[in-house]
Amino acid sequence: AYWPASGDLKVEKLSARYSSDGPRVLENVSFEVKSGERVGIVGRTGSGKSSLTLALLRCILTEGRVYYDGLPTDQINLDALRSSVTIIPQVPELLSGTLRQNLDPFGQYDDAVLNDALRSAGLFSLQNDSDESRITLDSQIASGGSNLSVGQRQILALARAILRQSKLLILDEATSAIDYATDAVIQASLRREMVRGVTVLTVAHRLQTVMDADKIMVLDAGRIVEFGKPTEL
Ligand code: ATP
Ligand code: MG
Repeated sequence: AYWPASGDLKVEKLSARYSSDGPRVLENVSFEVKSGERVGIVGRTGSGKSSLTLALLRCILTEGRVYYDGLPTDQINLDALRSSVTIIPQVPELLSGTLRQNLDPFGQYDDAVLNDALRSAGLFSLQNDSDESRITLDSQIASGGSNLSVGQRQILALARAILRQSKLLILDEATSAIDYATDAVIQASLRREMVRGVTVLTVAHRLQTVMDADKIMVLDAGRIVEFGKPTEL
């Protein structure tokens, strides 16, 4: 059967550390998210938000269990796991080359499809047609993506997730670098994605950004201190 069929996520007693002799940066975290829900993750700096996003994909050392669409992730090949879940880091790295090459490294899609993904992700709402520095599929991306703002890089990463039709999307929102307009564009795109049955976890630096999420998770010192509907907090 085709896997993943849903974006259900179940996390049981997940702990994590960056090295075998390092401190635990996540402590016994348990929660469940149903397919299509949008969860906002908040907490002060160093509380473990980014670590949680990494632990979910086993990019750091973990104990405990994560079930994705019913399967324990330690029984899923890491490549399969990482290709079906999209994680957008706080500062996405891009490759040098054109925007098209970054979006579609294997040349699988038509320009129309790529432009649709960019539009859905919100790239064009941040620039107008007459703008000479307008970003297009043919724009050259400098090494690492240094000629784009961090927010724009996140929007490109989001476009890639839309192309790949990931059922689980994890966005670690850029910190202070991000302006309100970009922030709003990204959240609006995520809201539309959610409509299509994609589970979205989004780390936010302003509670306000995720007040319309289905659930809010508050982390403190690697533990969940609150998890519920925004109105219940
Ligand atoms: P921010 O809001 O600043 O992004 P955060 O909530 O994402 O903060 P984390 O980056 O998850 O916080 O950090 C949680 C803990 O893990 C901190 O104590 C931090 O020092 C530690 N940590 C983060 N990255 C690493 C790393 N690469 N190696 C070792 N420890 C790390
Ligand atoms: Mg972080």
